[in-house]
This record gives sequence, C-alpha cells and structure tokens, in this order.
Amino acid sequence: MLFEKMEDYGCEKIAFFYDKGVGLKAIIAINDTTLGPAWGGTRLWNYRDEEEALIDVLRLSKGMTRKSSISGLDAGGAKAVIIAKPEQKTEALLRAHGRNVETFKGRFITGEDVGIGIEDAKIMHKETEHVVGISKEVGDPSPFTAHGVVCGMRACAKDVYGSSNLSDLKIAIQGVGHVGYNLAKELHKEGSKIIVADIREELTKRVFQEFRATVVHTEEIYSVDCDIFAPCGLGATINDETIPKLSCKIIAGSANNQLEENRHGRILHEKGIRYAPDYVINAGGLIAIYMESKHSTPEEGMKKVEEIEEKIDKIIAVSKETNEPTYEIANRLADERVSDKKRELETTKKT
Ligand code: NAD
Repeated sequence: MLFEKMEDYGCEKIAFFYDKGVGLKAIIAINDTTLGPAWGGTRLWNYRDEEEALIDVLRLSKGMTRKSSISGLDAGGAKAVIIAKPEQKTEALLRAHGRNVETFKGRFITGEDVGIGIEDAKIMHKETEHVVGISKEVGDPSPFTAHGVVCGMRACAKDVYGSSNLSDLKIAIQGVGHVGYNLAKELHKEGSKIIVADIREELTKRVFQEFRATVVHTEEIYSVDCDIFAPCGLGATINDETIPKLSCKIIAGSANNQLEENRHGRILHEKGIRYAPDYVINAGGLIAIYMESKHSTPEEGMKKVEEIEEKIDKIIAVSKETNEPTYEIANRLADERVSDKKRELETTKKT
C-alpha cells in the first residue's frame, strides 16, 4: 500500500521518525527535488491515526512541489508532519525533529505550518540550519501571503468585472487568522466592502473594530451577497454542500486544498465561477521566504510575490481558450516545468 501511495503522489522518499524518550512520531515526505532542495513546513496535528497523517503528508508535499514549480522557484516540494497533541509540543520534541531534518543535509528545508509557530521553528533551528522563516524581516509570512491573494484577486476581477480595482467589490473572508486579518487590512485600504466570519469571536471583533467589517455567522459566509469569496480558514470548504450557496463570481483565498475533490473545480468552471487555484494564489509567503534565503531584499521579495497577478492572468487566459477548469491548467503548468527539467537533467547526464 505504501509504495502504491508513493506512486500516486509521485513521492521520491518517505522517512518515519520515532523517539520514544520525547514522544516524537514524525513523517517527512520528500515529494520531488528535480527543481532544487525540497521546501515544506512542519505541521503538528493530533491525527486520528497514522494513515490519516501519511495521506496528509503525501498530499501536502505534492502541493508544495506544484507551488514551488508554478512560482518559478528553484525548489522542490516536501512536508513534515508530527503526530501529537499541542500539549505534547516540548523543546525536547522540537529539537529531536530538528535533528531529523538535519539528516537530509539540506535536501529538505522546513519552517512553520499549522501547529508550529516561529518560536517553535527557532527551537528546531538550534539543531539544523535548514529551517527558514525565522528572521525579523520575513518571520511571519502571512502579510506576504495576503498580498499575493490581493494580486490574484485583481487578476480575477479584471477578467470578471473588467477592472482590477477592488474598491467597489464586496469580499467575503472565511477565517480572519494570520492571513485573513492581513487580507482584511489590505482590502480595507483598497476601499473594498468586507464581510467576515470566524469561529473565534475575538478575531471577528478585531476586524469589525479596525476595518468596519460586517461580521456574519460561520455558516452564513457561503451565502452572503458578495463578489469574491476568500476561503482563508481550513481546506475542503468548496464542496457539494457549499457550492450551491455561493452567489460570488470569484473564489480567491489563501486556504490550502480548497476544493474537497478535483471535480468541484470543474463544477465551479461549469457554473462560471472563476477559481484562483489555491497553491498559485497563496504562494506569497513561500516566495518571500525563498527570496530572503537567496539574499534578496524584502522589496525584491514583494515584487516577486506580485507576479502572482500575471500567473493568474495566464491561467485564466488559457482556461478561456481551452475551456478547461483553472485548477487543471495550474496542475499541468506546474507539472510540465518539473518534467521539462527532468528531461534536461537526463539529457545532460547522457552527454
Ligand atoms: P490561522 O490558523 O491563523 O487562521 C485560520 C483562521 O480560520 C482561524 O482564525 C480559525 O479560527 C478560522 N477558521 C477555521 N475554520 C473556520 C470556519 N469553518 N469558519 C470560519 N473560520 C474558520 O491560519 P493562517 O496562517 O491565517 O492560514 C489560513 C489558511 O491559509 C490555511 O489554510 C493555511 O494553510 C493557508 N496558508 C497560509 C499561509 C501563511 O502564510 N500563513 C501560506 C499559505 C497558505
């Protein structure tokens, strides 16, 4: 079953780590290193069982390969998951994970993800150099991710409403955590009308007070009257149950794996809803941290993040030409760059 799953996800290598002393159970999946060392955060989550953790790490690492590829980075894709409850997260556990990361000798570069914050990443960094996103400048990638989402929204708005100006649009944000808050902040400056929902009341209160956002119940966010729906909470929120409720013409948000299944991307396409593929529009944080690792300035990093607008423009143009859903085009473009590089490397090896 394991090798079949690796084949399904095109995964190069999986490593399992167990340290009874500190209670560490971790899986690192290196999905693809054709374009460069494999980048991917470390997620700490109380998975139901080992299989759930394994599928998650395989799926997320594949997404990272595509995200690096479509963003034009010389980087591959990977992911690490630690199976633990939040209260099991100790310095000893994080340092043990850091030592595991070190065994890849730079072929795997990690950082924050769900359940792992900057302070945790700094602890991992005590054991390995191959931890990113811990500097003062780009420590928190969320503002870069949010800015990338705004750029992607502009591309979609240009196509659907004939202008990249977001000031007259009603934008519904699902989840106002790190990215959603920064997105609301930027959109407020743009003059957009913002509607938000979050399961954490203190967070919606903050955006209501700071940006005059309209707050609705978490179930209501799908059916509110809006031009753009921005999923910025968890994944799989675009599904059979939610699609019929949507009144928007654009879906553009930061959440990973927004489509519950690929077929939902096709349903959106058939309904005439423009979907900005998640790993294209939410790559801002990765791009900023990658650029910093190459010694670029934050301004240069931001410029590269803004290329997300052109990328979404291009995907939409191809979709209109070929009548294919946007997510399929993004997958094809991302996978093509990897296979072209693979061919090039093989040819160089033979000559
Ligand atoms: P976060 O945990 O800070 O924020 C997520 C918010 O969503 C939380 O406030 C949570 O309460 C809320 N939420 C969860 N379920 C909800 C629901 N059903 N309805 C309404 N709100 C709900 O996470 P984040 O860093 O802001 O990331 C948001 C999403 O973007 C995640 O899917 C993440 O994987 C993705 N992402 C984040 C970054 C980044 O730079 N932080 C980069 C790429 C992708």
